[in-house]
Formats: sequence, structure tokens, C-alpha cells
Amino acid sequence: MMTSPSAAGRLTVITGPSGVGKGTLVAALLKRHPRIWLSVSATTRAPRSGEVDGVSYFFLARERFADQVAAGGLLEWAEFAGNCYGTPREPVERHLAEGRPVLLEIELEGARQVRHSFPGGVQIFLKPPSFAELERRIRGRGTDGEEAIVRRLERAQVELKAEGEFDAVLVNGDLDQALNELEGLMGLG
Ligand code: 5GP
Repeated sequence: MMTSPSAAGRLTVITGPSGVGKGTLVAALLKRHPRIWLSVSATTRAPRSGEVDGVSYFFLARERFADQVAAGGLLEWAEFAGNCYGTPREPVERHLAEGRPVLLEIELEGARQVRHSFPGGVQIFLKPPSFAELERRIRGRGTDGEEAIVRRLERAQVELKAEGEFDAVLVNGDLDQALNELEGLMGLG
């Protein structure tokens, strides 16, 4: 399937609680639309098994992350469950200037910052069919310790209350349905 020209150079933000399945949905979207450029974030979180530096994230020590913030190198950044996450500014601006659709997969505080810096962007909130289902997915992932799981679930309660701030809300129950709806919202044919 082709990416329609109307989507070129547009910024889309996807936000939703940890464990809702943003990664799976985004991977399916990129497979169908290789022209979309997905931003690689910087983080102070330790890599999970299988994560590759420069591909999954740029894994930075806290001091290096702080240097990036001080230098204005991040478009937005936020602390989430004890770690810092941020979007490198230069590649986002470059890909938008080249006319490519740009996608950010970030948490709520970051989405709020981008809303101010890119008011023309589309902001999409992805939510689980239920809170119980979210907890099941986070625990089933098996990547986080109990303390991290509790922090993520607490944060999820806060994020879920913010869905009304977004341009659109998608329920991630059925992956294909969510993918089709996402394509529609991004103006992809
Ligand atoms: P995880 O540790 O599970 O990879 O990510 C935790 C949360 O951080 C997720 O909600 C993810 O969307 C968010 N996140 C990832 N990259 C960024 C970023 O660059 N900025 C912000 N604000 N949040 C991010």
C-alpha cells in the first residue's frame, strides 16, 4: 500500500499507557507504510534484552541526557517511571523538511509539549479495552520487575484520564481494526 502525498511532512504523536501495545501497532503501520519515519528516542533506562542502541533507543547515561537537554537538542522530554525519555530534535525537523510523515511514540507529558511546539500535528491516544487487560499485558510482557510494573500501572491511571486532550482515541483491542483506524487518522491510503 502506498503512503498518500497528503500525509507528507506531517507530524503524528501516539500516546497511551505502557503495555497498551503501541509498539506492536506502530511496527505494523511501518511495515505497511515504509515512508513513515519513526523517531528514535533518547532514554536513561537500561536496555531490555533484545533492544539495540540507536535502533530501539539511544541509551544515555543521566549526565549525557542532561547535556542534551541543556543544549536544546531535545524537542521534548519527560521523566517516566524513574527514567528520562526525550525526542532528538534535529532528525524530526530534517525528516519533516524532506516531506516525510514523522511519527513520535511518546508518553503524556511529552505529547503535551509537542502540542505547543507543533500545533498542526495530529495527536492520537491509544487505550486498552479495560484496565484489567492492560495489567495482564504489562505482566505478561515479563520484561519489568514488580516495582516497575506498579509504577507503570499508577502512571497508566493518570494517562487514561487525559484521553480527552487528544484529537482522537483508538481502542487497541483488535490490532487490524486499530491499524485501519490509525491509517485513516493519518490520512494514509
Ligand atoms: P518504555 O520504557 O516502555 O520503552 O517506555 C516508557 C514510556 O516512555 C512509554 O509510554 C513510551 O511511549 C515513552 N517514551 C518513549 N520515548 C519517549 C520520548 O522520547 N519522550 C517521551 N516523552 N516519552 C517517551
